[in-house]
Amino acid sequence: MRYSKYFIPTLREVPADAEVVSHKLMARAGMIKKVASGIYSYLPLGLVVIKKVEDIVRKCMNEADAVELMMPSVQPAELWQESGRWDFYGKELLRIKDRHNREFCYGPTHEEVTTDIIRSYINSYKALPVNLYQIQTKFRDEVRPRFGLMRGREFIMKDAYSFDMDDAGANISYQKMYDAYRRIFEMCGLRYKVVDADSGAIGGSFSHEFMVLASTGEDFVISCNSCDYSANVEKATVRKSTEPFSGDMKAAEDINTPNAKTVADVAAFLNIKESEVIKTMVLNVDDKIIAVCIRGDHELNLAKVKNFFNASVAEFATPVEIYDNTGGPLGYSGPVGLKIPVYGDYAVEAMGNYCVGANEKEMHKINVNHGRDFNFESVDDFRNAEAGDVCCECGGTYEITKGIEVGHIFKLGTKYSSSMNAMYLDKDGKRKPFVMGCYGIGITRVVAAAIEQNHDEKGIVWPVNLAPFKICVLPLAMKDQEVSETAENIYKDLINKGVEVLLDDRDERPGVKFNDAELIGIPLRVVIGKKTLAQGKIEVTVRASGESYEVDVEGCVDVLL
Ligand code: ATP
Ligand code: MG
Ligand code: MG
Ligand code: MG
Repeated sequence: MRYSKYFIPTLREVPADAEVVSHKLMARAGMIKKVASGIYSYLPLGLVVIKKVEDIVRKCMNEADAVELMMPSVQPAELWQESGRWDFYGKELLRIKDRHNREFCYGPTHEEVTTDIIRSYINSYKALPVNLYQIQTKFRDEVRPRFGLMRGREFIMKDAYSFDMDDAGANISYQKMYDAYRRIFEMCGLRYKVVDADSGAIGGSFSHEFMVLASTGEDFVISCNSCDYSANVEKATVRKSTEPFSGDMKAAEDINTPNAKTVADVAAFLNIKESEVIKTMVLNVDDKIIAVCIRGDHELNLAKVKNFFNASVAEFATPVEIYDNTGGPLGYSGPVGLKIPVYGDYAVEAMGNYCVGANEKEMHKINVNHGRDFNFESVDDFRNAEAGDVCCECGGTYEITKGIEVGHIFKLGTKYSSSMNAMYLDKDGKRKPFVMGCYGIGITRVVAAAIEQNHDEKGIVWPVNLAPFKICVLPLAMKDQEVSETAENIYKDLINKGVEVLLDDRDERPGVKFNDAELIGIPLRVVIGKKTLAQGKIEVTVRASGESYEVDVEGCVDVLL
C-alpha cells in the first residue's frame, strides 16, 4: 500500500469525548470516525485490523469444527416472542417497525435465529453435533455507550451456537470452544484470564468469560494468589458472617426424582406457557408438590407460584442471565458441610420447609433448616468478594484486577430448544430438545482491548498478528531519486514476498512521517536516507523496543523477513 493513495486521516487532536487510550489512539490514528453515540465508521486502517482479528477467529473456529454462516441483522419479533425474550429483553433491544407495521428488532444476539434454522433442518441425532457461527454486526442500545469500540451500540461480534443431543455432547462442544478461545486470544497476542462466570460450581450449566487485563476494564476479576481460581467479581461471593455452616444437615431426600413432572404438566398446572417453565423440576415430597422451578425473570409467574404453592421465593440474587436457575438467592449445593454456599441456586420456602439445591440431579436437599444448615436473612448475608478475602478453593488470598470482557461462552442447556420446540429424534425414536451452547467474541472490542494493553506515549504498539502492516518503508526525501528508487525497490520486493507493507511515499517532512508511523504502530520501520544510503545502508527500527539497526541495502529484504 502506498500512503499517498491510501486513506489514513491521522489527527493531532484527541476527540473531546475520548476517555480511554484505545479510543484516543484509534481516533488519532485515523482508524475510526464517530457517526453517532456508540456508532462508528471503521476507516480503512481500522478495518484492516478488524479483519486480522476476524481471520484469527475464523481459523480457530473452523479448526474446532464450527461452520460459518451469516444470519440477518434484522430479526422478526415472532422469533423473540417464541423464546419469551421479546418482553424480557428491555431497552437494549432496538425495536423497529416496517411499513406494514410489523415488528422487528436489530439483533443484539442470534440464539433465536440459529435455533430456528436448526429445528427446520435437523431432526435426527445422526446429524449432531452441529456448531454454527457467524461474524456479524450487532446492535445493543447500551445505556452508556462509551470508550469508542469498547462499548459501542453497533459492534461486530463472532457468535457461535452449538447443538448436541445430550449433556455429555454439549460439554464436549463447550470444551472445544473453550480451547479455541484460548488459541484465539493467544494468537492475538493478548494477556488475558479465563474467569468463572457461573453462579456456582455445580449445576447443569456453566459459563466462562475471557478477560483482557487492563486498568480501563469495566469488569473486576477476582483471582487467587495461590491457586488458579479466578472469577468475575459479581459471581464470586463470600459470606459476611464467619460462623461456619453446620455440618449436620439431615440426609436430605433427593427430590429431582423420576416423579418429576414434565414441562407440559407444570405449564398446565400453573396455566402458563410451556416456554415459561425452564425446568421440570417439580419438587415432589410425599407426593406433595412443594415448589417448582420456573424462569426467574417473570414476576407474574412468581406470584402465581406463590398462590399455587403458597410458597415464597426469596428475592433474586443474580441477574437472570443465568438461564436455568429459579432465581432464589442462596443455595447450598454439594455435599452437606461444603464450605461455601453458592449463589444462583435456589432456596424455596414452602409449607414451613426449606428446600435448597442446584439444578442438577442428586443435588436437592429438603428438610433443610434455616439457621442450622444454611443461613439467610436476606441476600445481604453475602457480599461480593474483595481483595484479601479467603479463596473458596484453596484458602489462599483473593486479589482484584480489572478486565475487559472480550469473550464469553455459555452452556445454555435446553432453554431455547425447549421454548422454541427445537427437537430431534434420538436413537430410540424419542423426541428430545437439543442441548445448546453459545459462544461470543467482541471482534471490535478485541481491537480496542489490544490497544489498551499495547501502547506507549507515541501511539499504538500492535501485537505482530494484529498489525495492519508488518513493515513501513519510509524514504526520508522523496525528491531524491536514489532514495525514492531504493524505497520503491524494497517495497516491491516485500510485496512480492507477500509481506504487508506500507510505503510512505508522501512528500512530507521526516518528522511527520516518523510520528505517523509510530502513532499507527507498525512493528518494523525501514528508513531510507541519503546519508546512510551513500554507505549502502538503511536503518531498521523496531516499534516495540525502539531499537535501531543499520542493515546493508543489498539483501535487506531477507533480513527483514
Ligand atoms: P458487557 O458485560 O461488556 O456488557 P455482555 O456480557 O453484555 O458484555 P455478551 O452478551 O456476553 O456481552 O456478548 C459477547 C461478547 O460481545 C462480549 O464478551 C463482548 O466481547 C462483546 N460485546 C458485548 N457488548 C458489546 C458492546 N456494547 N460493544 C462491543 N462489544 C460488545
Ligand atoms: Mg452487556
Ligand atoms: Mg458481561
Ligand atoms: Mg457476557
